[in-house]
Amino acid sequence: MIEATEQPSLIALKKKINGISHDSGHTFIVGPIKLPVQLDGETVNFNWYSWLEVENSLDLPLEEQKDLLIKSLATANLANSQQSSVLTYGDFETSEEALIRMHSICHTGDIFGSKRCDCGFQLKNSMKMISEHGSGAIFYLANHEGRGIGLFSKAMAYLLQEEGLDTVEANEYLGFEDDSRNYDEPIRVLKFLRELPVTLITNNPNKLEALKKSGANVSGRVSLWGDISMYNKHYLETKMEKAGHFRGGYPI
Ligand SMILES: [Zn+2]
Repeated sequence: MIEATEQPSLIALKKKINGISHDSGHTFIVGPIKLPVQLDGETVNFNWYSWLEVENSLDLPLEEQKDLLIKSLATANLANSQQSSVLTYGDFETSEEALIRMHSICHTGDIFGSKRCDCGFQLKNSMKMISEHGSGAIFYLANHEGRGIGLFSKAMAYLLQEEGLDTVEANEYLGFEDDSRNYDEPIRVLKFLRELPVTLITNNPNKLEALKKSGANVSGRVSLWGDISMYNKHYLETKMEKAGHFRGGYPI
């Protein structure tokens, strides 16, 4: 347990935690932490940050809330509510041009390499695009599983898809809106890391619009299609026909 006295390591820790106050509480960002990553047989050095949303129910100033957070980590049970994080590459704060991706967590695609979607491919390839470009960031959004419906519901949506429903129909059948994702959190973190404009890696016009509407400084978009197979062709077609994804670059 961390004592109340300011040990050197506690001071170092506090220097790496920054807070942003907003209407519904505080966002605490920890980092940068050096994260060498294996990408296509090469080691690429990213910087990693994680963030945590904290309700400010006690109406504490930021610094006091930060102290309280550090002291209560061991009892906060954070593993039960997965946190989001961001990988940055190069001089993300000041480089003239930077690419970003807002990547929704995909347990099946990113971790298991499922072919039912193209998430794992998009994650790896956006990391490659960013490192080749020289500057950028990948936001990995932990509360966006299954377009914001959660993992258990996604499993049920997959079962409904086996009954012939498409992605949008399955989500609506379970009582969800087609897309329940919100980008306020990562936009706050983006603004903390960089004020200059960014180019968004996405095929999704709604994502581009949502980010612009929420005040992100996004100047444009590049698409990322690939990894099309017999398993995800219908899923990708639905994205284009129902969710209005850009067709640019889709090779059909
Ligand atoms: Zn996926």
